Amino acid sequence: MRVSVDQNLCYGSADCVFRVGSVFTTVDGFGAVVPGREDSGDDPRVREAAEQCPSQAISITEGREGTR
Ligand code: SF4
Repeated sequence: MRVSVDQNLCYGSADCVFRVGSVFTTVDGFGAVVPGREDSGDDPRVREAAEQCPSQAISITEGREGTR
């Protein structure tokens, strides 16, 4: 499953980075997915980060990179 951050919703708390630093990072002060880790939506820690994001900016969607 794919994980993404909507930077229009994110306000840069960086909670996601503290939770799963291997998948989330910050770019220009806003949350972002580490390049190449967009396919990490199956990781329970990533799901938890999405649930706990204070602005609900993290989305987990069906599908994998390269199967389109
Ligand atoms: S936890 Fe949510 S609001 Fe905070 S940096 Fe990550 S995506 Fe942005």
